[in-house]
Amino acid sequence: MFKKILVANRGEIAIRVMNAARELGIETYAVYHEVDKHSLHTISADYALEIVGDTPKQAYLDAAQIISLAIENECEAIHPGYGFLSENASFSKACKDAEIKFIGPNEYAIEVMGNKTAARELMQKAGVPIVPGTKERITDLDLAKEIANEIGYPILLKAAAGGGGKGMRKVEKESDFIDSYDAAQREARNAFGDDTIYMEKYIVNPKHIEIQVLADEHGNCIHLAERDCSIQRRHQKVIEEAPSTVLDEKLRAAMGKVAVDAAKACQYVNAGTIEFLLDKDKNFYFLEMNTRLQVEHPVSELITGVDLAKEQIKVAAGYPLPFEQEDIVISGHAIEARIYAEDPLNNFMPDIGTISYLRNPDGIGVRVDGGIERGDEVSINFDPMLAKLIVFGQDREEAIEKMDAALSSYKVVGSRTVIPFLKAVMQSDRFRNHYFDTGFIESDFDFKVLDEMKENDEEYVAAIAAFAYNKNKNKKKVTPVNPTPSDWKSKRLNNMREF
Ligand code: ADP
Ligand code: ADP
Ligand code: MG
Repeated sequence: MFKKILVANRGEIAIRVMNAARELGIETYAVYHEVDKHSLHTISADYALEIVGDTPKQAYLDAAQIISLAIENECEAIHPGYGFLSENASFSKACKDAEIKFIGPNEYAIEVMGNKTAARELMQKAGVPIVPGTKERITDLDLAKEIANEIGYPILLKAAAGGGGKGMRKVEKESDFIDSYDAAQREARNAFGDDTIYMEKYIVNPKHIEIQVLADEHGNCIHLAERDCSIQRRHQKVIEEAPSTVLDEKLRAAMGKVAVDAAKACQYVNAGTIEFLLDKDKNFYFLEMNTRLQVEHPVSELITGVDLAKEQIKVAAGYPLPFEQEDIVISGHAIEARIYAEDPLNNFMPDIGTISYLRNPDGIGVRVDGGIERGDEVSINFDPMLAKLIVFGQDREEAIEKMDAALSSYKVVGSRTVIPFLKAVMQSDRFRNHYFDTGFIESDFDFKVLDEMKENDEEYVAAIAAFAYNKNKNKKKVTPVNPTPSDWKSKRLNNMREF
């Protein structure tokens, strides 16, 4: 097993990975930009190494700097978390060249699955059903319009390099095609530096169902059932659950098999996710593969009992999977709610502020994967996700009740969060009766409910804030900073940075 690993990320996922490493007896090295000097991930690590960059985000994206630090500190492996460098094929390759194990798939799998057109091509060859549409860059707009007519409107223009719900445009009719194409291309160029656009049939009212896969370096590949991630805003997930109420054993086995085929087709090793859209008639179509640990991985952990972050590290260290497909048995029901610093009453716009009060919920079956504490600054530097609340119940009903109760005792003061919205979803009939699809937030959710909740909550929150203020006004926050590995090493690191 590795003795030391470096975690090239921040926030809750860095902490999640470091906890897994610690259980395996591995020493953990965090990297942090100055703005994160007192952040939880920095102080949770055994050692913390400063990284620099033009912006805080740039520091976490600086592959060369991070690899140098890993070498200097004799870390044998790097875990990239999600976001940042996690789906960067050259980073995976650069780690290999530096003889550092990248805890994730090889560069081929990242490259081919990171490009939606290349992935669709490969999946079709492997016999995996893909959403009807094109597999090449749109170059000839007249031809593209012809194809769109054949597929039938509405269609969806998508960025080949897409991610995080960006670079997508729904087109209802031919006369909108050109404008939508231009807009999608512009967004793709800005977000990904690649303006390749292709088209998919727009699947009406689908469910987003994804399958977790796990593969080792010895040719074993299994799946760990599905997650239903249909509650989305801006094509991005907010609430996820496992298992899905719409899958029976037969469909689960069928989708699981296709997911394993997909992973094998790109020579996949480590943990990954195959995303599908499931239509009203239970036809499923490959959407994309995320070649990393996913934000919502905890719900799969809770229903299978498999610690995915630990398995990732073990696989990277060369261990064979300790179980076969038959050993994976699901039980109970898990739900995750992402605690975003966003205003649900203002189109889920990110909010900023200083966290002046924080109370996490707890209890049987309640898990908080968090990355913040009181005193932290919520800024525009990073993704607005503060933490994840995950609950486990014997069945879906119990999980919903637990989530509802846990959300009620979850208090964050200093920045607006989606907590009231999440609570309203738990109480909505549509969600409870599993009558929802990816259009839930946009079309089916009644935002008026939030206005009513807001009044009660604000009164309560003001009371907590006053209490917290009085209690802490004479206290200064003192956060210990972890040692750097040794003086001579820090000196060498500083010298290196001058080049
Ligand atoms: P998941 O599918 O794991 O739920 P999300 O789509 O919410 O993932 O993205 C997880 C993280 O990765 C977020 O921080 C998001 O901003 C980031 N991310 C995902 N895809 C990209 C991309 N192509 N470019 C930059 N960041 C991305
Ligand atoms: P990203 O890489 O940004 O995560 P995905 O291709 O995974 O992009 O799609 C994200 C979400 O956008 C899906 O979960 C779904 O809600 C919506 N979506 C994507 N493609 C389609 C489609 N062809 N029809 C309907 N909805 C779609
Ligand atoms: Mg996706």
